[in-house]
Amino acid sequence: MNTFYSLILSWFKENKRDLPWRGNVDSYQIYLSEIMLQQTRVQAVIPYFNRFIQEVPSFYDLANIAEDKLFKLWEGLGYYSRAKNLKKCAIEIVNHHNGVFPNSYKDAIQLPGIGAYTAGAILSRAYNLKYAAVDGNVLRIFTRLNLDDSDILKESTKKQYKEYIESIMDKDYGAFNEALMDLGATICMPKVALCDKCPLNDLCKAYKENKVFEFPKKKIKPEKEYFEYSMIFITDQDRYIFLPKEDGVLKGLNAPILLDSYMSEFEIIDSIKEKYDLDIQNITPIKKGKHIFSHQLWNIKAYIAYTRDLKDYPSYSIEEINTQIALPTAYKKFLPF
Ligand code: SF4
Repeated sequence: MNTFYSLILSWFKENKRDLPWRGNVDSYQIYLSEIMLQQTRVQAVIPYFNRFIQEVPSFYDLANIAEDKLFKLWEGLGYYSRAKNLKKCAIEIVNHHNGVFPNSYKDAIQLPGIGAYTAGAILSRAYNLKYAAVDGNVLRIFTRLNLDDSDILKESTKKQYKEYIESIMDKDYGAFNEALMDLGATICMPKVALCDKCPLNDLCKAYKENKVFEFPKKKIKPEKEYFEYSMIFITDQDRYIFLPKEDGVLKGLNAPILLDSYMSEFEIIDSIKEKYDLDIQNITPIKKGKHIFSHQLWNIKAYIAYTRDLKDYPSYSIEEINTQIALPTAYKKFLPF
């Protein structure tokens, strides 16, 4: 057994976080936790995970869930493409793998929403197969350990570390990956490194040379795309119109009327008449703010607009909006009530 492996495993035994997707859980719960944890903090995921497994306890239930209910359960977690892929993936698993997550990398990687990291994490945790799960946390630890200035945004860097980690993993593959996840989340963090508590400090070159925060190296991220929207909540004073967004980020999900760019109130009234054939009697600005996605920044001016006739557009009462329909946070935070 190599030193690295034994150091990190003994540290993990003593210090592992108590999380609801650890211990006596099945491949469905492991799968669900890995999807929820993509781009989302552990503390934010816990209540969603607990609620989700209560209401949707298996791949069979997930394959048959109504989309509205799925999005409602997911509401607030962001990155709705993950929720869409959940259902698609469950259908594949029910139809082709008897409702159990497949135990081969070749099959796992073909499922919707599953990449190399997620496949490695699930297969090692659920079936103790020898696959590394290399994400930003793991790359941070290893580039610090080795004073490695490789660009961690490059696929080739990830691939090299995946091969290297798989060469030093031993026996307890799932626990090894989880130990690295916990070390990256609680000890070797991006802006804080608790090196004196780290089980690997004797092996760590960055610690010895006092260069911890010079690693990892990454290229400057491309700037976020910038959008301006006028967001209009149209109501007849009883119900509000929400329509599936036609394209771009949040495509297909309920949205208020979004008009490209900031407009004057007269321009908004004209555009709504032209595009939706609705007569607006009164329009009032309500909020101004922004919403940040991973690749986009939306600057938003929100309005409430009154019309006597909502025509046949889908519309909802405040009660329904609060309890039944799924509404992404990008819109929810601008609601006029
Ligand atoms: S010694 Fe410090 S920098 Fe090195 S791996 Fe541990 S926490 Fe990270």
